[in-house]
Amino acid sequence: MIVAFRILVVDDQVENLEMLGQLLRRKSYDVLTANSGQQAIDLLQNEDIDMILMDVNMPHLNGYEAVERIKKTERHKDTPVIFVSAIEETNVKMKAFLAGGVDYVTRPYQFKELLARITTHLKIHARTGRQRRQIAELQEVNQLKDDLLSVVAHDLQNPISVIVTYVDVLKRRDRDYLIEHPQSRETLDNIKDTAMRMAQFVGDLLDVVRIESQETVSAQTVILNDLLQQAYEDGNLLSEPKQIKLIHTPLEMRISMMLPAHLFAQAVANLLSNAVKYSHDRSNIHLYTEKDTSEVRVIVRDEGLGIPLDAMPFLFKRFYRVESMEHQSRSGNGLGLAIVKLAVELSGGSISVESEMGKGSKFTIHLPSSLIVAS
Ligand code: ADP
Repeated sequence: MIVAFRILVVDDQVENLEMLGQLLRRKSYDVLTANSGQQAIDLLQNEDIDMILMDVNMPHLNGYEAVERIKKTERHKDTPVIFVSAIEETNVKMKAFLAGGVDYVTRPYQFKELLARITTHLKIHARTGRQRRQIAELQEVNQLKDDLLSVVAHDLQNPISVIVTYVDVLKRRDRDYLIEHPQSRETLDNIKDTAMRMAQFVGDLLDVVRIESQETVSAQTVILNDLLQQAYEDGNLLSEPKQIKLIHTPLEMRISMMLPAHLFAQAVANLLSNAVKYSHDRSNIHLYTEKDTSEVRVIVRDEGLGIPLDAMPFLFKRFYRVESMEHQSRSGNGLGLAIVKLAVELSGGSISVESEMGKGSKFTIHLPSSLIVAS
């Protein structure tokens, strides 16, 4: 069964209504009519409609006032409206478009042309509606995937920590045996390392899902210098085994900012741990802060592997890792920078990166001055 499109024609001139109604019905449209803006509004309370043809000049409620009110309703907010009028003035046409019209046809018109416009807008509307439904479906599937991801990650946390605990129990209980059998000891160490890597991965996954589901975070007044000093001290623990020198140059003046402290500290920590991971032994890493009138910049700069230009667009995407052998030889899961981006943006800032292969990388967190708390 072919269902005809339904068009509402609104005009205070009865002869216009009848003529247009007849022509449209002959083209198999299902036509409703109203002879005033108010009548159209009343009628649309209970009717579904595919398009409205609206006269502009009508007593009491003119065409664009009526459309403005119709567009405020949930049922008709997306219904396409074509204005039909003898008025040619540009500012009247502008008003019609501002009220939500998709087109404006001036009288006298060729019926063929009006018909062509009606068909085009019905097609566009159908396509937009379909796309909107597809987006909604995709969002639902995406949400389902995230829910599943967090349930799986959450349920994996316990068994992983049980494995680590059992390895520790074995190492303690069979200490003497393991001293005599270094291969067994090495196997146990490998099991523990692998389980710890899994724990890190699962923890990172849960972080991404947790941070992504937050639309806003509660910020508090944080002394940036102290937060960065703490990040530097934690970073030192990571850099020491590779004899990397971590150099912290704080701002001379102490500044307080409105930040979600934990989340922001996590972003800086991830940048520092990446800098250590992708740096050569005995190189330098700089953590420093810059400030000008518009923003505060927190910078982590290393002298490590660098990042190829073609990797830049994907760097902050989940699970992305640079494909080079040297990058891949360092353990990772491609979630660290996704977390950084989410955390920085939820903090009210943005992140940028500059890098040169073989020379090093510079990650900059930009925080707008509006986040500074006056002391
Ligand atoms: P990973 O767990 O793999 O380190 P990230 O999301 O933290 O994941 O980083 C994504 C990729 O970006 C990394 O795999 C690495 O190739 C590259 N990368 C990140 N930071 C640096 C850096 N400081 N120097 C060189 N490459 C980096």
